[in-house]
Amino acid sequence: MNVYDSERMADVLAPLGYALSDSAEGADLVVLNTCHIREKAAEKVYSELGRLKVMKREKAEGGGGDMTIAVAGCVAQAEGAEIMRRAPVVDLVIGPQAYHQLPELIARTSRAKGERLAADFAAEEKFDALPADRGVSGPTAFLTVQEGCDKFCSFCVVPYTRGAEYSRPTASVIAEAEVLAAKGVREVTLLGQNVNAYDGPGPEGDAWSLARLVRRLAEIEGLDRIRYTTSHPRDMRDDLIAAHAEVEALMPYLHLPVQAGSDRILKAMNRAHTADSYLRLVERLRAARPDLALSGDFIVGFPGETEADFEATLDLVRAAGYASAFSFKYSRRPGTPAAAMPGQVDEAVKTDRLARLQALLDEQRHAFDRSQVGRTLPVLFEKLGRRPGQAIGRSPYLQSVWVEGAADHIGAILPVHIEATGPNSLTGALRATAASPEAA
Ligand code: SAH
Ligand code: SF4
Repeated sequence: MNVYDSERMADVLAPLGYALSDSAEGADLVVLNTCHIREKAAEKVYSELGRLKVMKREKAEGGGGDMTIAVAGCVAQAEGAEIMRRAPVVDLVIGPQAYHQLPELIARTSRAKGERLAADFAAEEKFDALPADRGVSGPTAFLTVQEGCDKFCSFCVVPYTRGAEYSRPTASVIAEAEVLAAKGVREVTLLGQNVNAYDGPGPEGDAWSLARLVRRLAEIEGLDRIRYTTSHPRDMRDDLIAAHAEVEALMPYLHLPVQAGSDRILKAMNRAHTADSYLRLVERLRAARPDLALSGDFIVGFPGETEADFEATLDLVRAAGYASAFSFKYSRRPGTPAAAMPGQVDEAVKTDRLARLQALLDEQRHAFDRSQVGRTLPVLFEKLGRRPGQAIGRSPYLQSVWVEGAADHIGAILPVHIEATGPNSLTGALRATAASPEAA
């Protein structure tokens, strides 16, 4: 979502004459769009600000004028005052619901030198205020449809930094998707902290589910692929499972975080599902879409997690089978209920469990990748590779696929015969099609 937000910040700033720069060096404006989900991500902000301080000074000394420095995102939301105190180099901080106000805030900081502003929640207004036009950088794009979270998992800061659940009206989502499709986007990933909790108002004022929105977006000419992330198991409703069976554009790949495999830990996490209910849900999804590939999020070392609890996570991973996954050591976040729980787990134990979990997840990912060798998959070509003629595309299962002699096909979806697997990608060859008979 931060990638989406950053792109929208660029859209908001474009009319003022700002354009994206490859590096921060010499830039007139640097916006750090930050993440607060784990301590490490939050701490990075301060080291990055240290580097920017040097660049800002060098720019001024070299006669290049001023560099305005803004901190945006969830660290800004959660620690705005602290950032101002710790890093005098920062000109303004702006929360994730307020970045549509960037032009106004930048103008105010430059008029009143030394005036430093903090912007707070403005929630819904943001999407209304964002420009209808969107810059695109290829045939795939993100599109935020839902923001915020009411679930309050006991480890998580999101409900505090992103606020309550909010679903954009269907008309504004559809309009944005149409802009994207008109600009050549073939694959869109619908975003939300709990995207399957989507219940945005439709044109008649009735609430649309995510499934209904997906079906409508699939009608847009040129939009051939739809994904959504991140979904919560408890919001995986029947109509969405049915959409996986019926909507061709809905890709057979689902990110469905479970976090842990021990029911005792899941309860302490306030996840509102058990290991068994999660596995039954996965079974129903696979019944609807037999080739569905699964991805997930995992936390190891949640307070009170014993070796037996951790092994239950490994068991769940073996039972569910993942094509890809994200796994993290529990990070104690100030203000969340879990931060105050007894039984905080030793760092060394967390490190050991994470390594064991990742070894299993890597093994599953490689096995999944290997199972594609010999198959022909539709690949959406996204960008050029390192070698002349080479292009990199995406399989339906979100794998990167490297193909020689495909450089002319950026933006096209073509059948590719998968030949081999690498550490993080596949390689393949174009199959001849009616449209490109030369690529045999
Ligand atoms: N809404 C999504 C997740 C958003 S946060 C969901 O419920 O699935 C993305 C991921 O970050 C989470 O799934 C979780 O695995 C991880 N995460 C969140 N808070 C964390 C913490 N305090 N420590 C470690 N990982 C955390
Ligand atoms: Fe955080 Fe996701 Fe839980 Fe919400 S549902 S509190 S975003 S982990």
